[in-house]
Amino acid sequence: MDQHSIDRLRSEPVAPQSHWIAGRPASRENSIDVQSPIDGRIFTTLAAGDESDIDTAVKSARAAFEKGVWSRVAPAERKKKLFKLADLIEAHALELAVLGVRDNGTEVGMAYKAEPLSAAATFRYYAEAVDKIYGEIAPTSQDVLALIHREPLGVVGVIVPWNFPLMIGAWKIAPALAAGNSVVLKPSEIASLTLLRLAELATEAGIPDGVLNVVTGLGSITGEALARHMDVDAIAFTGSGLTGRRLLESSARSNLKRVYLELGGKSPNIVFADAPDLVQAAKISAFGIFRNSGQVCVAGSRLLVQSSIYENFMDQLLAATEKLKVGDPLKIDTDIGAVSSADQLKKNLHHVALAESEGARCLAGGNRILEETGGYYMQPTIFDNVTPQMTLAREEVFGPVLSVLRFDTEDQAAALANSTVYGLAAAVWTSNLSTAHRMIRAVRAGVVHVNTYGGADLTVPLGGVKQSGFGRDKSLHALEKYFDLKTAWISL
Ligand code: NAD
Repeated sequence: MDQHSIDRLRSEPVAPQSHWIAGRPASRENSIDVQSPIDGRIFTTLAAGDESDIDTAVKSARAAFEKGVWSRVAPAERKKKLFKLADLIEAHALELAVLGVRDNGTEVGMAYKAEPLSAAATFRYYAEAVDKIYGEIAPTSQDVLALIHREPLGVVGVIVPWNFPLMIGAWKIAPALAAGNSVVLKPSEIASLTLLRLAELATEAGIPDGVLNVVTGLGSITGEALARHMDVDAIAFTGSGLTGRRLLESSARSNLKRVYLELGGKSPNIVFADAPDLVQAAKISAFGIFRNSGQVCVAGSRLLVQSSIYENFMDQLLAATEKLKVGDPLKIDTDIGAVSSADQLKKNLHHVALAESEGARCLAGGNRILEETGGYYMQPTIFDNVTPQMTLAREEVFGPVLSVLRFDTEDQAAALANSTVYGLAAAVWTSNLSTAHRMIRAVRAGVVHVNTYGGADLTVPLGGVKQSGFGRDKSLHALEKYFDLKTAWISL
């Protein structure tokens, strides 16, 4: 990745986009403007799908599934094609990274690794796994042979958000395809471009027509149509809790399709006085909330600091935060890029005003910056004097806004950590092994980091408890979501 190549790619024209159905672009009637958060300019349009586009895509996915061109071929054959897709993603990595950044404003250094490279690794991981999954023989009496088959579900609807669309999309598409399902994908209207390109590459890799379809458009129309379709067997979703609830309703009102939900968080990052290295802890904590302008589901948005080191730690945190350079996400030396949209920026600033009105104290940031670029940029923002009752301690902002709370004892830290409706991620900083293990048990979250924040790789599951959702992405556990079990009971 070099600045010269990025600069060349950043102004490449992007043709108006169509849906991708049955291995080719599908005609479109209505469109949505695609605005770059880097400079506020409209640089292409997306197809605005409706119920009939969704129906065409689902029919194409079902036809491919029933023909068995993918669902019934040997797993080893699917593996070859998925490997080819991973190679193609890698070959186009920079192009995909820059296209994605133009769409959603993530800093390019992180986008390059977290989007195409991580997506390629995900396709390889599930491709590699799928010819090693066996059926089972049940321990029955001798006059019976009972077999447990794993079968693909059929048509899986995938709905993803605008942050890390390729990475999160791959977490669902790769295991769904590896298991033999067909997929209809509805990306976010704010960041669809890389996933449309992914579908094109899938066709180039030899994945049969109809196996991976993409219909773009608004959540309330296109997403809703997918969620309510009577011939979709499952919805794998990442996004907000509000939409998650809608999806459960849509399932109940249609065909009772299964729904997997990866939702938001308000993750506690807990620093004990005996943290091994406070300077390092402060640096990683700043990165843990502010990277991608706070638009990370597992962002450590609640910092809990033990009172005895409070002043010292806050000094380190403020120093680390001051060093972060906010700006053009397509410059390699930028630490924090753009906020994804005007609406998200408005929401962030609303939370700042609300925190001030509720009595929290702004220690850093709080404002929009670089307005003259036409883009959406915000200073990393830190509030202290936050109480657990304040909105900033309870609600997900999904922006670069950190709330800081104090604690004295381990029990208080655990109680504070568990005091929201969420349970996605957490971190504990301590040199004491027993404290670390007790806190891992006490904190209700899908992942607890110790002496770091983030960085968990594909080998481990990701997902939440409480209102952060259910079902897991990543690891072999995620594959189970895309298989059904069928029993054969044979009298001998
Ligand atoms: P969102 O819920 O607004 O949208 C997510 C997707 O759902 C988009 O594709 C949208 O078009 C679609 N959608 C919206 N309404 C719909 C409806 N009625 N029916 C069907 N589909 C609909 O979320 P967002 O703003 O795109 O993403 C931010 C949220 O995602 C945050 O809450 C964040 O925490 C969460 N997130 C969670 C994880 C995780 O792994 N747990 C990862 C990333 C983001």
